[in-house]
Amino acid sequence: MIELRTRDEIEAMRPAGRFVGSVLTAVKEFTTVGTNLLEMDALAHQMIRDAGAESCYIDYHPSFGGSPFGKVICTSINDAVLHGLPHDYSVKDGDIVSIDFAASVDGWVCDSAISFIVGAVDPEDARVIRATEEALVAGIAAAQVGNAIGDISAAIGDVAESYGYGVNLDFGGHGVGREMHGDPHVPNDGRPGRGYKLREGLVIAIEPWFMRTTDEIFTDPDGWTLRSADGSRGAHTEHTIAVTADGPMVLTARD
Ligand code: MG
Repeated sequence: MIELRTRDEIEAMRPAGRFVGSVLTAVKEFTTVGTNLLEMDALAHQMIRDAGAESCYIDYHPSFGGSPFGKVICTSINDAVLHGLPHDYSVKDGDIVSIDFAASVDGWVCDSAISFIVGAVDPEDARVIRATEEALVAGIAAAQVGNAIGDISAAIGDVAESYGYGVNLDFGGHGVGREMHGDPHVPNDGRPGRGYKLREGLVIAIEPWFMRTTDEIFTDPDGWTLRSADGSRGAHTEHTIAVTADGPMVLTARD
């Protein structure tokens, strides 16, 4: 079921969006060569406690997950692109680090993700990150009243295509509200004008993720982490946005 939010409800989601953005900024600033993924998770967990927020991940146990997630952020490194389970690994020079984070504040959820390179930059890694960022901007720009989900999907897919990247349709964006995942699904490629017509008050997470030379993934033995089929590196960026009469409003914007 697709739920639409009133203006007041969208305003009430803003603290969650600001909080999620602040945690991503803090974890990114904290991360250098040698930082352990478990320390990054611990920092986010402390920020959740300090804010009186609630993790959406720690007890998360969907059909595709091997067990309850048990951590508060996803840390996906290099060929890991989504749902990376934080483990005892210290970030190395040149790693792509993707962090996905969702939390609930005052009963409202926001969801956001960033990718960045620690240390020496491989131009091809920078390129795949840039593609996801451009696709996110294009997808958000298409989130206008009167457009359809397919317009968002097509905008994202067009950017992927312009970079020569394939698109995996197994995981994409989704409705956000009282829960982390709701309808509608927002695929990262599709046909303009198709699907649900966007209405004022729709709140969705838009989350392009691409891999350098494949569109196929497999699940790591940890039961969570999704890796590119060919070992190529990937990136993932995400914002939670509200469709309003004045255009898309990014709830998880960072300073
Ligand atoms: Mg997310």
